Amino acid sequence: MPQTLESAAKAPLPLTALTDDELLFRDQVRQFANDSIRPKVREMDEKGVFEPAIIRQFFELGLMGVEIPEAYGGAGGTFFESILLVEEVSKVDPSAGVIVDVQNTLVNNALLRWTTEDQKKRYLPKMVADTVGAYALSEAASGSDAFALQTRAELKGNEYILNGRKLWITNAKEAGVFILLATIDPAAGYRGITAFIVEKDFPGFSVGKKEDKLGIRASSTCELILEDCRVPKANMLGEPGKGYKIAIETLNEGRIGIGAQMIGLAQGAWEHALRYSQERKQFGKSISDFQGVQFQLAQMATEIEAARMLVYNAARMKDVGMDFVKQAAMVKLFSSQVAERVASLSVEIYGGYGFTKDYPVEKYYRDAKIGKIYEGTSNMQLQTIAKMLLSGK
Ligand SMILES: Cc1cc2nc3c(=O)[nH]c(=O)nc-3n(C[C@H](O)[C@H](O)[C@H](O)COP(=O)(O)OP(=O)(O)OC[C@H]3O[C@@H](n4cnc5c(N)ncnc54)[C@H](O)[C@@H]3O)c2cc1C
Repeated sequence: MPQTLESAAKAPLPLTALTDDELLFRDQVRQFANDSIRPKVREMDEKGVFEPAIIRQFFELGLMGVEIPEAYGGAGGTFFESILLVEEVSKVDPSAGVIVDVQNTLVNNALLRWTTEDQKKRYLPKMVADTVGAYALSEAASGSDAFALQTRAELKGNEYILNGRKLWITNAKEAGVFILLATIDPAAGYRGITAFIVEKDFPGFSVGKKEDKLGIRASSTCELILEDCRVPKANMLGEPGKGYKIAIETLNEGRIGIGAQMIGLAQGAWEHALRYSQERKQFGKSISDFQGVQFQLAQMATEIEAARMLVYNAARMKDVGMDFVKQAAMVKLFSSQVAERVASLSVEIYGGYGFTKDYPVEKYYRDAKIGKIYEGTSNMQLQTIAKMLLSGK
């Protein structure tokens, strides 16, 4: 414990301490999520369609370009603020959370980091104003083994001609811009993988079947079809054969975003469970008067707090330029475990009502499952963590 005010001032701040700007931003997002998203959550989940008006509001509020510099019309914020955004929105609806997450932590991140100045001028203002982004790496036969992808890109004159199919692409129904990975040389293995900026109106590009999912049902997940899709050479992202680096580095940051989605989800489920436990009466008292229920609530809150520390720490590490690869994998692994446990216990605290669609907790339980699958399954996170530990990092 710091002994004097002077030593307290020099001590590092607690991980959960927020600056005035961060607090203001978080509270604005919280209010928006409660006022504008919450009333639509059940209907969007049932229909499996995200309300276009909410996406328009995301843009109006500057939530689709958090880190994009003001010079390109963005908010000029930090990665940490993107994380607060994903957490707050996911508390109310993890489907809404993944929309802003993919936009900010994957697509904008890749565009900010790897584009030329010309590409920045062409794309960043759109991402802030009205264009949803998607990130297309996975294919039917390449998920965990992502660099076994088969979508082919061949240079012909001033264009790359893309052929192949992508699967599981989040935001595909709404997106105007896709960061898409293809190979320019299958014989070169991962060294052939190249990233492209593909627009939905490019000839030969179409969005295919939309998946009917267990959870995050309002978030669109679709196949992409590339049939002699013509992509201008000027739309290559980074260097030829360096797409694997873009994919790896972007996903490292993305995993912190999924961690934020999962802690938001867990907090949302827990808040419902807490409220319900104080209202529901059995044996003549609130079920929250029983020590068994109190301990469940306490255990859940402790796990959420621990996961939040991991998420916030990794995000702050990214913002100050520290190496965060191991921490990002830990964030994704642990926060998805916590989300699943907390959502499951929340259903139990609601008893039979929790098992019905008349109450909100069953949806959190369904939504939690994806946290262990996308942006690298839990086994893939364990593999990364173990590799780093065994190499002394
Ligand atoms: C809702 C949803 C949204 C998605 N959004 C996107 C998106 O926007 N963009 C995108 O590119 N992709 C997206 N994905 C794809 C997602 O990233 C993949 O599904 C994920 O990486 C797993 O790949 P797979 O489904 O092919 O499973 P597989 O790779 O076939 O894995 C199956 C099982 O085998 C295990 N396994 C595989 N290899 C190993 C190994 N070496 N050691 C130990 N265990 C192993 C896995 O852990 C898993 O349990 C999305 C998926 C879903 C379901």
